[in-house]
Amino acid sequence: MSAPSPGLPTDPAVHRPSPASEPVPPVGDGFLPGADRTTLPAPGDLALPVSGRRVLTRADGRFARVGELPADTGWVPVGTLDGVPVWAAEVADPAEPAEPAATDEPAGRWCSWRSLAAELPERFATAAGRALAVVTWRRTHRWCGACRAELADVPGETARRCPDCDLYVPMRLSAAVLVAITRRGPAGGPDELLLVRHAYGPTELWALVAGFVETGETLEAAVHREVGEEVGLAVDRVAYFGSQPWAMSGPGTLLTGFTATAADPSAEPVVDGRELVEARWFPLDALPAELPPAYSISRWLVDAAVSAGRR
Ligand SMILES: [Zn+2]
Repeated sequence: MSAPSPGLPTDPAVHRPSPASEPVPPVGDGFLPGADRTTLPAPGDLALPVSGRRVLTRADGRFARVGELPADTGWVPVGTLDGVPVWAAEVADPAEPAEPAATDEPAGRWCSWRSLAAELPERFATAAGRALAVVTWRRTHRWCGACRAELADVPGETARRCPDCDLYVPMRLSAAVLVAITRRGPAGGPDELLLVRHAYGPTELWALVAGFVETGETLEAAVHREVGEEVGLAVDRVAYFGSQPWAMSGPGTLLTGFTATAADPSAEPVVDGRELVEARWFPLDALPAELPPAYSISRWLVDAAVSAGRR
């Protein structure tokens, strides 16, 4: 058996939930979110300074240790990575790390979550994503939305509470759905996958139909609604595929992936021209090259559809 990079989504089947057969990871393995403030940061703990939407790593791309940063850094707990506590802190005025001098090691480098997710094993990207989310949430939730008093941290939780009116303000998580829609191909031909191009963001990519879940609907209902709104199609056999915490923008997004089949195999997609500019069926053996990146659940869904089409 070959040895894939640890934690990298090389095999989409790994991310297909199969509770019956999947081994339970040992306690403390991988990234576990947490907000435990009962212990103080230790010098050997992992440290993730955050500025805006970027995370500071060592120059070699590894996470720094608490002991390598100033003692007065205001660390907040993020969780544990392989059993080691992870701390994040907002760095108000980051000095852009200088180019490596001839003799000195560079201080480190500021990385977007996108670049971290592309380079690091999945559990590291997840830890960095939560660090970004926690720091962003703390910066944007300082005052009570009801009475304007300054919020206070709730011990042991990623939450704040108003000391005057008792309003409870937890860090929110937004859920989004992505759906890989397939249909029977022409007689003798391979099945086909629906891919779309967006009017904004990475417009060159062929992506999946996706959208945020509204309050008051199930994930499955969101799948049907988004598919109807974005491409005017009806789908059936909607099935859960897996999920991925996502930190490309804003705090707290959980991507949930679904597969589905076109209810009417002869129906063609219709785009609104505003959110989506193009939608097209592609034979599974002739997908475009401009697909979502390998670290994204979008790509795992596409790869899984290709694998299923081969069977
Ligand atoms: Zn209040």
